[in-house]
Amino acid sequence: MTNLTWSRGELTLLKNCPACKHHIDYEPIYKRGDDEKLMPEEWHIYNCFYCKSFFVNPRPSENSLPALYRDYLTHKPVQREAVFTSSSIFWKLVRGYLSKQLDIRFDQKSLAIGGFVA
Ligand SMILES: [Zn+2]
Repeated sequence: MTNLTWSRGELTLLKNCPACKHHIDYEPIYKRGDDEKLMPEEWHIYNCFYCKSFFVNPRPSENSLPALYRDYLTHKPVQREAVFTSSSIFWKLVRGYLSKQLDIRFDQKSLAIGGFVA
């Protein structure tokens, strides 16, 4: 291990294949950035000459690994639709209508009269 860093933490430099432990005496097969272009790094992808495993080297250290994924869409809060969350009179009426017509239950208040207005 050396003190290499990437934009979000430390890097771990492997001297051996993480799968078969054979000494890395071959070159990376290609270099690339992340799909979302969120980080400046160019990662080196290796394909082990001995066991054919693919791995990135150097790679984010264990404690900086979560930072790699923090911007991905799966980790952003979900934006709920106004029909479920809005407290405006309009959406209360809409919820009232939907509750009556389709028997949908809402967490937010709805106005039963919405079922008749529509
Ligand atoms: Zn290997």
